[in-house]
Amino acid sequence: MGGAALEVRDLVVGYGPVRALRAVSLEVPEGSVVTVLGGNGAGKSTLLRAISRALSFHGGAVTGGTVHFGGRPLHSLPPDRVVAAGVSQVPEGRQVFARMTVDDNLRAGALGSRGDRPAKAAALRRVRELFPVLAERSGQRAGLLSGGEQQMLAVGRALMASPRLLLLDEPSLGLAPLMAARIADTIREINSQGTSVLLVEQNAALALRLASYAYVLEVGEITLSGPADELAASDEVRRRYLGVVDEDAAADASQADTTHPVLSRWEG
Ligand code: ATP
Repeated sequence: MGGAALEVRDLVVGYGPVRALRAVSLEVPEGSVVTVLGGNGAGKSTLLRAISRALSFHGGAVTGGTVHFGGRPLHSLPPDRVVAAGVSQVPEGRQVFARMTVDDNLRAGALGSRGDRPAKAAALRRVRELFPVLAERSGQRAGLLSGGEQQMLAVGRALMASPRLLLLDEPSLGLAPLMAARIADTIREINSQGTSVLLVEQNAALALRLASYAYVLEVGEITLSGPADELAASDEVRRRYLGVVDEDAAADASQADTTHPVLSRWEG
C-alpha cells in the first residue's frame, strides 16, 4: 500500500514454545485509525509489544517477519529507538507510576523522545488541552486518580513523546460506558490532530466506530479484514463481536429444538 505509515509483514511471535502470532500482516496508513479486534488470548497485546519492541520484557521474541514504519525497519531497534522513531505504546491496564505525581508521570513519557525543550513543552500543552483534569491534578499522586483518569494519564504519557503513531491496548477495558465514550472522543481528536492510531480492542462496537479499517485476530491469525463499516455490518462480526443475535438462525435453532429427540423425550 502506497504511503503506509506502518507495515507489518508475516510477523511470527512466540513466548518460549508458545506460538502467539502466526504470519500476521497488517497496515496502518498514515493519518488513519485502524483496529484489531479479538477475544482474550487472541494475541492483541503481543502484536503491539512486537511493534514497540517490548516483547523481551515479557519473555517473548519475534521469530519471523518484518515491521516497517515510514519505510524504516523497526524490527531490529531497541524499544527507546522505536519511541524516537515516532511510535509510542499505551499498554493494557492503565499502567501509571502510582507514587509519582501526574506531572512526573508525564515527564517520564517524554524521556525517550527526540524532542527538544520547546517540543516537550508543546506536547505538555497538547496533553493538558486534551485532558484538562491532568492539569488540575498536576501535583497529585497518580495512584489517587480514578480509573478513567489513570487511563487518560497513560494516554497522555504516551503523547508526551509526540508520536506519529499511537499504539493503544484496550483503552476502554474496565471503564464505565460514559468514560469509555470520553476516551473514544479523545482518540478521535488525537487522530484529527495528525497522529495515526493502531487500536486493539475487545470492545468491537467502540473500535469499529473509531476506525476506518479493521482486522479480526483469532488465536494468533488474522481471519477477517476490511473497511470498518463493512465489518460492522457483516454477520460474523455482528454475531461474534457485537453480540447481535441472528434472529433467523435463532428461529431455526428453536424450531429444530422442538423436534430434538432429547427435548421431545423430556417434553413427552
Ligand atoms: P487479552 O485481551 O486477554 O489481553 P490478547 O489478545 O491481548 O488477550 P495476548 O496477551 O497477546 O492476547 O496473548 C496471546 C497468547 O500468548 C496467549 O496464548 C497468552 O497466553 C500468551 N502469552 C501472552 N503473554 C505471555 C507471556 N508473558 N508469557 C507466556 N505466554 C504469554
